[in-house]
Order: sequence, then C-alpha cells, then structure tokens
Amino acid sequence: MAAQKLLLLPGDGIGPEVMGEVRRVLAAIEAKGLLSFEIDEDLVGGCAYDAHGKAISDEAVAKAHAADAVLLGAVGGPKWDGVPYEHRPEAGLLRLRKDLELFANLRPAICYPALADSSALKRELVDGLDIVIVRELTGGVYFGEPKEITDLPNGQKRAVDTQVYETYEIERIAKVAFELARVRGNRVTSAEKRNVMKSGLLWNQVVTATHKSGYEDVKLDHMLADALGMQLVRAPKQFDVIVTDNLFGDILSDVASMLTGSLGMLPSASLGAEDASGRRKALYEPVHGSAPDIAGQGVANPLAMIASLAMALKYSLGKPEIADTLDRAIAGVLADGLRTGDIWTEGSTRVGTAEMGQAVVAKFEQLLAA
Ligand code: NAD
Repeated sequence: MAAQKLLLLPGDGIGPEVMGEVRRVLAAIEAKGLLSFEIDEDLVGGCAYDAHGKAISDEAVAKAHAADAVLLGAVGGPKWDGVPYEHRPEAGLLRLRKDLELFANLRPAICYPALADSSALKRELVDGLDIVIVRELTGGVYFGEPKEITDLPNGQKRAVDTQVYETYEIERIAKVAFELARVRGNRVTSAEKRNVMKSGLLWNQVVTATHKSGYEDVKLDHMLADALGMQLVRAPKQFDVIVTDNLFGDILSDVASMLTGSLGMLPSASLGAEDASGRRKALYEPVHGSAPDIAGQGVANPLAMIASLAMALKYSLGKPEIADTLDRAIAGVLADGLRTGDIWTEGSTRVGTAEMGQAVVAKFEQLLAA
C-alpha cells in the first residue's frame, strides 16, 4: 500500500490543539492497516512569521504542492495585529490558495441529529441535513476588472465591480460538482441569475453543456440564486450538491452554515485542477478561526478539524468508506452526549479537546469492529 503524503499545517491559536486530534485519528487509521501515511508538518500564519518573517515559507509551499492533501488548522491572533500587511497571518493561507490554484471551495453543511436543536430552523427541517455548497473561488466579481471608484464631474463618485466568467472557469467547477455528487446523493443544483445577468446566462449554458458531456447520470437542476436562498431556509434537505459562483457561493454557504447551528463543527475543502494522473491539489481546513480567546486551554472543539480529515479521506485519498465511518463516529460521540464548551447544553457531558478526540477514535474503532 503506497503511503499517502500529508502535509499538516497546524498554524496558530487552537490550530495545533485541534491538529493534535487529527494526528490521533491518523494513528488509529494506520494501526488498523486501513492506510499508511507519510506525514510532514510545517508552519503557516503568525508562527511562520515569527520563524521566517513571512506567513509561509517557500519550502512549505513546495511541500504543499507535493502532498496528496494539505490539512490546515487556523491562522491569526492579536499577537500579529501589527505585522506588515503583506506578512499578516492570512497571507499564508491566501498564498496557498493562489499557488495551488484552488478554484473550488467545498463547504458541507451537516446537521448532526444530536445538535439539531441548536439550528435557527425547526428540528424537522434540519435534522440529518447533509448538503455541500461548491463555490467558485478564484473568479467572478471579487477579481474582475475594472474594479474602481472614480470621481464624477458633478462631485459624485462612481463604483464599479466586474462580474466576469470564462467558459473554462465554469466548466471546471461544474465538473467538480458532478464528480462530488457521484460520491454523494447524485444530484446537483446550479444557481445563477440568468434572468438579469449575462454571466448567469453563460453559467447556465456551460453547466448544461458540461452535464451533457459525460455527466448525464447525475441529476441536474437549475435555480435562480435568490430562489435558492429562499429554498435553503424553507426546505434545505431537498438539496445535495449546490454549485454556484464566487459571490453567490459566499453568501449561500454562510446561510447554509447557520442551518447547522454551530460554526465550530464545520469542515471545508478547497480543490485545484485535476492533473494527468487524476490527482487534485487540495487543502482541508475547519471553517472556524484560531480562537485566541480559548487557545492553550485544551477546551477547543476538534470536530471540525477531524471532519476536515474525513473530507480529505473522501475527496483526495480515495477512501470514502473510511470517511463515512469517521463521520459516523463524530455523530456517535455527539449522540452519546459528549460536548466541548462551544456546543455544551444542559444535561450533556462537558469534555476537553483531547477527551473528544479520544472518544471519536474509540467510536471509530468500535464502528470498524462492528
Ligand atoms: P474564531 O472562529 O476564531 O472564533 C469565534 C468564536 O468561536 C470564539 O469565541 C472562539 O472561541 C469560538 N470558536 C471557534 N472555533 C472554536 C472551536 N474549534 N472550539 C471552540 N470554540 C471555538 O473567529 P474570530 O474570533 O473572528 O477570529 C480569531 C482569529 O482567527 C483572528 O485572527 C482571525 O483573523 C482568525 N481567523 C482565521 C481563519 C482561518 O484560519 N481560516 C478563519 C477565521 C478567522
């Protein structure tokens, strides 16, 4: 069995604490003979600035290029508030996304039955929710030119942002969505505003053409992005994979994350293009930040980080069945009533980071043995 090359970038704040629990899960996977790993670790964010004077070193970026998957904890914290803008902790993350050309951002919104009462919606609408938003991450209105504010002769100002997409950008994100759907519920909903935007019209046409080019086994629907926003809070369980552009994806993925009730539970993946061998560059990280307010106390919730590893197993390491077992282990410890402080409610058992990690590993091993 060829070893899978992993690069761990724990980062700052609670990053190293939650990454420690990923190491625990990796050790359990290896001990069971399910996979073998070649694990490397490096610095990103404020800790990298302290060590090298920049938020990520060229060596760490080179390691990320060579890895089958990169797992990142979190970056940032008040300690680095005063560092020069180009060296701020987030610059390390942005450089990785840019250098690895990670154009597809996957944000699952999973509502574990045990946490359904924490959602802003009624339990029956979200209990068991499992959707993924695939957001185009490197194009669209956030990057299109011209992008400027100009002075008008009448003393007013004029602001312009440009929403621009080319065929290849839509085609490659649509392919990611269709391929993801195949290892999930086999349904894709594409969202745009073709009724008022030319870029929406092209988006719709290219997604439709891509579907016809070899993905017709996947069910495809199109929805206007505003209608989809409404449906997300009316009946979110109707969706499986949602694919949309950078702007709509930004908004809709935040809406979807609140359906789950807890930001601290959410993993994410950012994927690049497939190379000749079918391998994609990939970065997996929790949605939450470095939580400096609780760093170093051993109380951080490691589940979003562990769920990010589950995504890596599913989408980069070719082991969807191990990923499913790990996801079921997470659901299992929650069903057993274990909670870190961020998701604690009356009547549940409060545990720390390491106890939660140990409980996930124990449940994982129990499920494997069943
Ligand atoms: P945050 O996500 O770090 O924290 C928000 C709140 O949620 C805090 O009260 C924190 O204690 C809590 N929290 C977050 N993750 C938790 C976990 N796993 N377990 C328990 N509680 C958790 O967001 P913030 O406070 O806005 O930002 C703090 C720092 O993180 C800033 O420097 C910010 O720039 C950075 N940040 C980094 C990333 C990233 O690395 N991708 C993302 C967001 C924010």
